[in-house]
Amino acid sequence: MDKCLSPHEILKIFKDCGALLEGHFLLSSGLHSSQYLQCALVLQHPAHAERLCTLLAQPFQGQGIEVVAAPALGGIIVAHEVARALGARALFTERAEGRMTLRRGFQIASGERTLVVEDVITTGGSTREVIHVIEEYGGKVVGVGCLVDRSGESPFEVERYSLAHLEIPNYPAATCPLCKEGRPVVKPGSRQTKTGG
Ligand SMILES: [Zn+2]
Repeated sequence: MDKCLSPHEILKIFKDCGALLEGHFLLSSGLHSSQYLQCALVLQHPAHAERLCTLLAQPFQGQGIEVVAAPALGGIIVAHEVARALGARALFTERAEGRMTLRRGFQIASGERTLVVEDVITTGGSTREVIHVIEEYGGKVVGVGCLVDRSGESPFEVERYSLAHLEIPNYPAATCPLCKEGRPVVKPGSRQTKTGG
């Protein structure tokens, strides 16, 4: 088993992969921020994905987790690798007409012990939506895990674990100091450089 990595070492992996971006970003929560974690740049390396998600799974070993669920797209690889470490199934929720749903024939049996995972938790909004979907299907959510927690609070009633915390301020658009400076806001995931192609 891999030895534990400190939060500092976890964030160093993100930095080394170029996944800790600086700028002016519109987060999926609708908030603005001067930094963004592009986890896909870490998870594109299967060795990193396996190592980090094995560590994320550790505190949930022996809890009888049968299902690991995550919101698409960002959480899919995390759910897959955590489920591998726990010997569980991995499935994902996705938005259809704005509402988080379980599609593709995924089923959850009544009372199935489910761990909800994410790459990054910012406000916890999408995590709560996934919890709600799992409970609608009769599953029992027993924990929440994420690679990096930048929410700075504990908005969940179940056991929660993250590999690292990152203190990055988020701002509503109306009070965003970067907006006041007139800096254009970027939606991460869209093209970051224009090369004329
Ligand atoms: Zn702004």
